[in-house]
Formats: sequence, C-alpha cells, structure tokens
Amino acid sequence: MMERVYLGLGSNLAEPRRQLDAALEALARLPHSELVAVSAFYASDPLGPPDQPRYVNAVAALDTGLEPLALLDATQAIEQQQGRVRKDERWGPRTLDIDILLHGDLTGEFAGLTLPRAEILRNAFVLWPLALLAGERRHPDNGRRFDELWQEMRGQTTQVLRPVAFRW
Ligand code: ADP
Ligand code: MG
Repeated sequence: MMERVYLGLGSNLAEPRRQLDAALEALARLPHSELVAVSAFYASDPLGPPDQPRYVNAVAALDTGLEPLALLDATQAIEQQQGRVRKDERWGPRTLDIDILLHGDLTGEFAGLTLPRAEILRNAFVLWPLALLAGERRHPDNGRRFDELWQEMRGQTTQVLRPVAFRW
C-alpha cells in the first residue's frame, strides 16, 4: 500500500544545497516510490555545538510502498553515499541527514525508529516547511493541524530561518 511520507533533510558540510539536490535525486529514484513535493530550502543556525557552519534544511513529500524500516535503510544508504560519517557527538556537522518525520499516520516505535519524529514539534526548520507542504494534515499524536501548530511555534520561537535564495 502506498503511504504519504514526509522527510526532513539537512546538511551543513560540502556545499549543503548540492547535498540536498543530490539527496532529492536519489529519493526520486527509490523503488516503489514517487517524490511528490519539495519545500524551499531554508538556512538556519546550528543546534548543538555552535562552532559549525549554518545548516540548509528542507522537507520532501514521498509516496512510497516501502515500510518504515525499509525506508530507513534506504535513506541511511543515501546518507552513506553522500559521505555521512557517524560520530558520537550529538548534532555535530554532517554532509546529509534524512529523517523520517511522518509515515502516513503511523505512531510508535519500530525497532528504534520513532514515528512521528519528535523534532516536528521542536524545530522551526521542520515545522515551517511541513506546514507549507501539508498544512491541512494532522499530527497523528495530537490530532492538530500542522498549519495551526506552526502558527503557535512561530509566535514563540527564537529560531531564525531564511529561504536560501536570499543570501546574506
Ligand atoms: P539525528 O538525526 O537525531 O541528528 P542521526 O541521523 O545520527 O541523528 O540518527 C540517529 C538514529 O536515529 C538513527 O540510527 C535512527 O535509527 C534513529 N531514528 C529514530 N527515529 C527516526 C526517524 N523517525 N527518522 C530517522 N531516524 C530515526
Ligand atoms: Mg537523522
């Protein structure tokens, strides 16, 4: 069965925009899958260690027949292909991070994979583009619309995002 999946992409090394472009091309080639929408790219200051470059983030919508763990294998393979080196440091710099934000309306733990991803409700660089792509969808845990959740976060967050077409 095809499910609508939302993926969060991020990079802060080795030409982040090109990393995201390459990741999107790889996602579009996944079996049993169709890439259906991509948000704008947003630049944001790093969470975690501050001595690292700015991030570029985006959200993509994928229709897929891949089950959650098969999709995680596939997205981790794309991270590896693009030179991701896993270190123990949390939130350290990376060429590419692909997180599964939502897999249809699934909720729960699947062998270490948590759905929906908790970052949705924490990070503007996830919730803003998600609200633009899927504003009418509802968060599977709390039933609230993503556009409403974003309006609330927008009034409170100190995180600054800039669409990357605007250079500064
Ligand atoms: P982070 O994305 O938090 O910076 P990593 O990309 O290194 O960290 O991911 C660490 C682990 O998080 C992965 O090995 C994966 O198994 C797990 N994980 C749990 N839930 C998810 C999810 N929804 N999407 C992607 N990875 C997840
Ligand atoms: Mg990740």
